[in-house]
Amino acid sequence: MKKIIITIDGYSSCGKSTLAKQLAAKLNYLYIDSGAMYRAITLYFIQQRVDWADIFQVKTALDNIHLEFVHNQLTGQSDMFLNEENVEPMIREMVVAEKVSEVAAIKEVRNFAVAQQQKMGAGRGIVMDGRDIGTVVFPYAELKIFMTADPGIRVQRRFKELYAKNPNITLHEVKENLELRDYIDSNREASPLRKADDAIILDNSNLTMDEQLDLVSQWVEDAIMSHSS
Ligand code: C5P
Repeated sequence: MKKIIITIDGYSSCGKSTLAKQLAAKLNYLYIDSGAMYRAITLYFIQQRVDWADIFQVKTALDNIHLEFVHNQLTGQSDMFLNEENVEPMIREMVVAEKVSEVAAIKEVRNFAVAQQQKMGAGRGIVMDGRDIGTVVFPYAELKIFMTADPGIRVQRRFKELYAKNPNITLHEVKENLELRDYIDSNREASPLRKADDAIILDNSNLTMDEQLDLVSQWVEDAIMSHSS
């Protein structure tokens, strides 16, 4: 069967990666979490005390960053490696979440990440989630999904996820972070978060995960059919 590119963009904590992982497993496609790349770059900038207002420092830092996704036998997922080190748990922490949208708004950082993402999709058979995947990374993708959900539901979901790892986190902190990231991501100059004209909107506020997967699986079938001839 023809392999396609599926892009999933949308606001923070809409469940993009959950859906992307389910789809990739079902279709035997590669799943790429583009947000993990921006998070790893941000972690490097924080650790190395890079002043990201200084474009010279940004360029030098990017020259020293090697990013790789490595399959984890135990979890069955891909872990983000930064310069040969598994940074998976660290990049999900609040210190990174607080800065990632600022770093991801830098044009040079985006060019660096996008070039690698485009290489990964060259063979098709890929599901990639992020903010600019359908608009910039794969504008020719066969199926583009733009996810959204009620903001209150999104905050609850992310709070539950983060609270399980860190019981000191507050709902207020999570809400502020999501609002700030969505604001910066939607209003930045370089490839802002935006629905591609040909993307299908998926509002999952009132959908169960099974309902969502059934619905999107149908879209996948339709996309494969309509691009097979
Ligand atoms: O998807 P996730 O929430 O992990 O992404 C973290 C941040 O990385 C986003 O808030 C956004 O600032 C940035 N990002 C981006 N473009 C992408 C993926 C993520 O700007 N394609």
